[in-house]
Amino acid sequence: MNNFHILKKSADIIKYTGDLVLKEIKSGQKVTVIFPNRRPVYFLSQYISGIYKSAADSIKMFSIDDFIDTCWESSDAAIFYPYAKINPAEAIFLLFDLNKNPEINLIKDAEKLDVFMPWGYKLFGDFEELLIEMTDPSSCDAIIAERINPDSNLQNFSDKFAKFSKMYKSFYETLVKSGFTSRSYRYKTFAENIDANITPNPDVFSSVINGRVILAGFYGITASEAVIFKNLLKNNGFGGENQTLIVSKTGASVADFSSKIGLKPPSGGNITMKDEEYKNRENYGKLSEVKELTKVTEFTEESELNGINFYFNKVSSVHNEIARLKEIIDKSVQKLSSKDLIVLSKEDYLFPLIHNVLNSLDKGDYNISIGYSLNRTPIYTLFNLLSVVHGRKKYDKFYAKDYASLFLHPYVKNISGKLQALPQYRFDAVQTRTIFQAIESYIKKNKILFISVKEIENAVLPAISLSEDSVKAYIGEMHRLFISNFENIENIKDFIEKIVKIIDAVSHNSSADKHPYGSKFIESALKAVMEFDATNFGHYKFEGVSGYFNLLKNLLKRQKVPFKGTPIKGLQILGPLEARNINFDRIFYLGANEGVLPDVSKENTVLTEEVRRFLKLPDAGESSKIQEYNFFNLVSGAKEVYLFYNDSSRSEKSRFVEKIIWNIQKTTKNLKEPKEINSAFKINFNPAEPSPIKKTGEVKDYLCGIEYSAAKLDTYLKCPSMFYYRYVLNIRESGDIGEDIDAAGIGSVIHSVLNEYFKVFEGREYIFSSLEKEKIKIGGILNEKFNDRGSMVLNLQKKQILTALNLFIEKRAKDLAGVKITGAEYPLEGAVTVKLADGCERAIKLMGRSDLIIEKNGEHFIIDYKTGASLTCPDKNFIPAAENRDEWLKNVKSVQLPFYIIIYSACKSVGHSNITAKLWGIKKNEERKVDLKDVNLLNAYAKFIGMLIEDIINSENFDFVKKEPYKKKICGFCSYSVLCGRI
Ligand code: SF4
Repeated sequence: MNNFHILKKSADIIKYTGDLVLKEIKSGQKVTVIFPNRRPVYFLSQYISGIYKSAADSIKMFSIDDFIDTCWESSDAAIFYPYAKINPAEAIFLLFDLNKNPEINLIKDAEKLDVFMPWGYKLFGDFEELLIEMTDPSSCDAIIAERINPDSNLQNFSDKFAKFSKMYKSFYETLVKSGFTSRSYRYKTFAENIDANITPNPDVFSSVINGRVILAGFYGITASEAVIFKNLLKNNGFGGENQTLIVSKTGASVADFSSKIGLKPPSGGNITMKDEEYKNRENYGKLSEVKELTKVTEFTEESELNGINFYFNKVSSVHNEIARLKEIIDKSVQKLSSKDLIVLSKEDYLFPLIHNVLNSLDKGDYNISIGYSLNRTPIYTLFNLLSVVHGRKKYDKFYAKDYASLFLHPYVKNISGKLQALPQYRFDAVQTRTIFQAIESYIKKNKILFISVKEIENAVLPAISLSEDSVKAYIGEMHRLFISNFENIENIKDFIEKIVKIIDAVSHNSSADKHPYGSKFIESALKAVMEFDATNFGHYKFEGVSGYFNLLKNLLKRQKVPFKGTPIKGLQILGPLEARNINFDRIFYLGANEGVLPDVSKENTVLTEEVRRFLKLPDAGESSKIQEYNFFNLVSGAKEVYLFYNDSSRSEKSRFVEKIIWNIQKTTKNLKEPKEINSAFKINFNPAEPSPIKKTGEVKDYLCGIEYSAAKLDTYLKCPSMFYYRYVLNIRESGDIGEDIDAAGIGSVIHSVLNEYFKVFEGREYIFSSLEKEKIKIGGILNEKFNDRGSMVLNLQKKQILTALNLFIEKRAKDLAGVKITGAEYPLEGAVTVKLADGCERAIKLMGRSDLIIEKNGEHFIIDYKTGASLTCPDKNFIPAAENRDEWLKNVKSVQLPFYIIIYSACKSVGHSNITAKLWGIKKNEERKVDLKDVNLLNAYAKFIGMLIEDIINSENFDFVKKEPYKKKICGFCSYSVLCGRI
């Protein structure tokens, strides 16, 4: 009997293998089936038990990994030395110790674990790959010595490579001495020792293997697998000849595969079943005679794709893709079964799918087998925030932004109920959230960049009226748990204990479990850290706190969160690898895009592509071929295939999809592309025209009672709607907590430094001693107001501010010597009488605050510092009047300086002809000035201010900006554009 069965791509390998198994069982044989992956095991088991219920004792089924592990665990040696499989994090510590040895010190300048760790992960990955490919360390050296041209750019690598191969060899020796194995070590051990009578010996295989062996669904295999398969084919010690069968699907590399396992490549191409034989395969299920399988015609991919209904769905985003999928699924929800498959090419699809498509199905109607990486979950985010807080801490202070982000994380701000350390109190989650939100508001309001735990406990809490004992105790306990606990870390064990305390608090006292998957995420995080805690590496220390957190993040990143489900029931949601070797009637393939299908992302490796080729390690091209093989096997077995891809300037459809399209074009002999369903959302991005806002009587009353400043009038001049949002509804941008000072913050620092500088002269003459001394004085004031906390960005900002202030001293303050300083931050007050709509008159209060007022030779100067780029003041040739209303904005621009002159003149009884108002630009040391010495201009502006206020109070609506270029200039920078509708 031929022991190499190659099926066409569309063949159902589960049924075919099942039929072979049933035939064997019928003839009294036992069978062991091994697949490359675990999922076909469930489907084969279902197929066989559906036909022959008492077959269970006669058949064993494994994935290849499970088979190797079972053999390992059944070996005599394993009884005495379990040799647990090492996890990558543990392997790093062994490599780290080896790297200290000068003989094999591969990674230079990595004496500290913190520096070595990222290298360690790469080295472990490379060593595992080399070992499973059975690359001997000495052959490694030989290949390099022989192949590397001294002139090539690989020469440097060959120098290092001697140490690389020494470390590679020493690592596996140390691994076993330390009581560990690894996945590759187990494969290689069985591959090498299978013929020899040493541990683990062939008896191990015979105790695990049951009768005839069927290796089903293999194609691209490692060197270790090839040796194991070759030996299984020889059947050493398992009784009888030709006991092992290979069942695979046809593909371009089938000849390579067959030669790797010691079989001659079939003559004339592939060996396949005859079509008619395949059609009769149902007979095998009925245990009828199985015809001898023979070499026959080749089944090509192309011919097998004919007859499948392909649906091409062009989408614009993941959410659009999911919405389109939902549309299709909703139409056939009654018909969903385990013959339907959704392939998730990336994890990104999982939660959108769960929340938007699977939410309308019962839990038992689907099975998700793709694991979800813990690094995409809120528990990982929490630890990431914690690591940022500690990693960026300077002296005893944190970035206020980091502090707020950590304590406002949903798992943290909701820690409530009875805390273990504070049994005397019970906290409510609304209360705990409010505490942290109040702290955040305080930080934002006071533009705090750095903050310490002490400042929060001793200054912020009293300032926000949260001084009750219970609140103080609560904040103290939270600070202990998240902050002070990590100030002294003894070693990894101590660190893990502290992390477990946080996980404990989150799991028992927060609302994490309210999220449908919250408890799963927490359980998985706990599992990852506890597994590591159980190792012998707890006494290792990192230099800084970041090393501990990097270790934690690596442990969590590698942990997958499993979803519960019955593996063979209902709609199947699988990753591309899990879908191998199973046939589905309907396939929904998400993310069929180039770069994803095939996935050509670079491996985390220290070996270059060239060196990999020398060492005969699989390269990107080989990986792409295997993905192509798996993809076409999958789609060829289906009746309907829905392909979803993003086809835009940034992304194109997969080359495999293009191949299907080309096949359709060839078959139909028509170059027209098959119909593509464009599912992109139809969105109109044109901004909507806002509507005028109607003033109610209540609003009008309010507008009559408030004070008016120049800033309010300028806002109204720009846009009445903006005035409404800012001064009637009082809506302000809350802003983010920054890591540096924003433009407004820089302005306020400059204002407060200059205010303090001039304040001491209030009511008397300004004395300018010397340039040097004045600069020292101003630098001293700046230092007090601006603490850079060692931040490079802040330090730079401080230098910029100091440069601007020094320039100000040089160019402007010098000329002030001898003038009288009337006031700094000088309050101004006045009134204007306006006519209300009902004809009554009302006095309206006007308010202002001038940055500096000076007096020289009977002339008064009102000065306003400007830290922005533009100095805006009215066109001196323009006289505002009711008739030229449309020109106001263009020519008045800002009413500030005339406004100040008018109210200063009134409140200080100074004649308008003796007043000049100025803008001093600090950035470029420029100056702009306005005076109202012309009485017509004075009267016009006094009237203009009254008209503006009358308009604010009396008009029926708050209108909006209609004209260009203001739409662009004003609306483009307006923070209310979403509210008003002009997005
Ligand atoms: S977006 Fe334009 S129209 Fe709307 S409130 Fe702002 S400035 Fe006024």
